[in-house]
Amino acid sequence: MTRQHLVAETGLSRATISAALTALAAEDRVRETADTRAGGRGRPSMLVHVNTSQVELVGIEIGRAHVAVAVADAGDAVIGQADRDIDARTGILARTEAALALLDGIVAAQGLDLTTVRGFAVGTPGPKFSGDGHRSLDLALARFTRDRAEVSAQLNARFGVPVLVENNTRYTALSETAQDSAGQNVAYLRVDEGVGGGVVVDGSLVSGSWGTAGELGHVCVDPTGPRCACGGRGCVELVASVPAVLAAAGCADVAELTHRLRTQDREAETAVQRAAQAAAQALAGVLAVLDVSLVLVGGRVARLPGFLARLEEVLRDLAPGWCTAELTVLPTQDDRTAGARGALVHARLTADSAAGTGSRARTTG
Ligand SMILES: [Zn+2]
Repeated sequence: MTRQHLVAETGLSRATISAALTALAAEDRVRETADTRAGGRGRPSMLVHVNTSQVELVGIEIGRAHVAVAVADAGDAVIGQADRDIDARTGILARTEAALALLDGIVAAQGLDLTTVRGFAVGTPGPKFSGDGHRSLDLALARFTRDRAEVSAQLNARFGVPVLVENNTRYTALSETAQDSAGQNVAYLRVDEGVGGGVVVDGSLVSGSWGTAGELGHVCVDPTGPRCACGGRGCVELVASVPAVLAAAGCADVAELTHRLRTQDREAETAVQRAAQAAAQALAGVLAVLDVSLVLVGGRVARLPGFLARLEEVLRDLAPGWCTAELTVLPTQDDRTAGARGALVHARLTADSAAGTGSRARTTG
């Protein structure tokens, strides 16, 4: 933007803009160059640029089997991102180190400056339930809380800025919804190894008392169904996760299941339809309660032939009419850095509130 544009956009005086730019230029946060776009005679006006080598926001996703990093400049442009697979047995602190190594790699390769970081957010996996009964539940929640605290402390010690820790699937929801939602209420469902999700209400990611809001995989869809490791009963995850669908279809892996769906194998089709129906049942409740108009569905099960069409069909049948009148159901891109980019959106909110500038409500992409 030119200085004239900045004055027009902000409604601030020329003198105020000039003083602000002088202060920002002293820290090398902005640079000015002659605007040669218009041509013409006379002295060209000056264009103000954000310094794109200074990192303002860092977003990290620490998944169960992969880590991803994205960094943005002061203008919210993503200036670097990377991801890699990681052994699922690796502990949370070692996975955090792996993410930091990715970050260091981006910084070194692109000559970026990390001393200017003002917002930092990390997505970690939700509680991992391993058995039934309250003891295992307590252990899972205690470990989940401890993991978050350790990650936050580890990063805070290195960067010296407050570090937000949220659920990684919900950060993916934030990233996916930032692209399509335009302020709508959105439900994001991820049907993969586990079933998770997130809900965005009035433009904000809902977190909840435990930070587990949006766990669509643990909505009961069968009151007489088996006990789930989460402590509930008949959960969506017990029918719709990759392992559940494979077991029901009698397939060894997703490739075999996809092949059998293409050849219209009855057992495979039934397993996928049942998964779609369970997911739709959970979503119907979300639609009625939160007045959601956009449903985004990702994960490997979502990409199976017939799943999404069946889900939408059942959802439109079950949910109240006012919910389905304007409803859109879309597949997500399943981009491997979406979780890290969603973390950037959250990092922006805290960077702005720390600076007292309020939410700019901008998205990163
Ligand atoms: Zn459950």
